[in-house]
Amino acid sequence: MIPVARPAFSKKERVNLIEAIDSGWISSKGKYIEQFEQAFAKKYGAKYAIASSNGTTALHLGLIAAGVKAGDEVIVPDFTFISSANAVVHCGAKPILADIEKESWCIDPEKIEKLITKRTKAIMAVHIYGRTADMKTIRKIADKHSLAVIEDCAEAQGAKIGGKYIGSFGEVGCFSFFGNKIMTTGEGGMCITDSKKMYETMKLYRAHGMSEQKRYHHPVVGYNYRMTNMQAAVGMGQLESVDEFIKEREHINSVYDKELSSLYNHKIIERMPENEKSKSVCWFYSILVKKNSRDALMDKLAKNGIETRPFFLPISKQECYKYLKSSTGINSSKLSQEGINLPTFVGLKDGEIKKITSAIKEFVE
Ligand SMILES: *Cc1c(COP(=O)(O)O)cnc(C)c1O
Repeated sequence: MIPVARPAFSKKERVNLIEAIDSGWISSKGKYIEQFEQAFAKKYGAKYAIASSNGTTALHLGLIAAGVKAGDEVIVPDFTFISSANAVVHCGAKPILADIEKESWCIDPEKIEKLITKRTKAIMAVHIYGRTADMKTIRKIADKHSLAVIEDCAEAQGAKIGGKYIGSFGEVGCFSFFGNKIMTTGEGGMCITDSKKMYETMKLYRAHGMSEQKRYHHPVVGYNYRMTNMQAAVGMGQLESVDEFIKEREHINSVYDKELSSLYNHKIIERMPENEKSKSVCWFYSILVKKNSRDALMDKLAKNGIETRPFFLPISKQECYKYLKSSTGINSSKLSQEGINLPTFVGLKDGEIKKITSAIKEFVE
């Protein structure tokens, strides 16, 4: 079976991890946590970084820092992984769903402005499947209406817009280090920000809301959203390799492109979008299968020993979000029904990609 994703490790992670274990500092104290935060902030062009237990808690901390509270509204794309909306609900706020644009698969800025009310506090821009949201326009809308922007960078670590890394356009940029992401710490997350105040707020809420000046004094009801030193030890090793990982994914992207190019003319299979002003990352090489034949293609690939993933179900179609009526999720629904993520991971061989693309070609024929 060719899996859809697989993590990649080098010797650095093993050495760091053993060092962390032997030091006895296995929980949320230890040298690797601050090292990892500082290295991450530096790499992605932010003043501060806060490591967290996973990407969802990173989003929750980011929203808290932006002042999102019960009764507020946050505009979220209809097409995203469930966490983007859940984090809003964890604040007691309401996700307001905006459809995505066909051209980028990300939130449509034109839809955002119409959804702004007196209760709107923030916009969550999600860089889906390695594509980039239109941060320039989103920033403009947010500034005009005094809203915060939280970037969900979980699927696009290392993508750039106009030469600048994503995560640095919003007030807070949030990352995930789940096992199938661009880099991993098993479970893990990170928030980056240039605001000292937001950094301090996130730090406070991450660790039980405990005052840094007075031990066991808790000015706010916080959470335990800390990353462990063991995770950070792995993260330090992964961060050293992340640019290599992205290069290898670019190669995978180009092999898929070359092998599938003949199919793209037939309009039965469509390629994921590319924006000339930004540099996306190949988190998953993704295709759209037209004519209601997505599931049949997935079955065929499975029979050939190839694992794939269907696209996310839109938030508006989730049972737990039935109360959110989205009148604008047409593009989200269509994308959800047609999309497949193909195997994409560091270590995937050209020969394996050819096996996958041959099976797709056979199917189309
Ligand atoms: C993976 C992911 C998250 C959440 O990350 P976890 O680390 O699994 O909590 C959030 N948003 C998007 C878009 C994701 O893909």
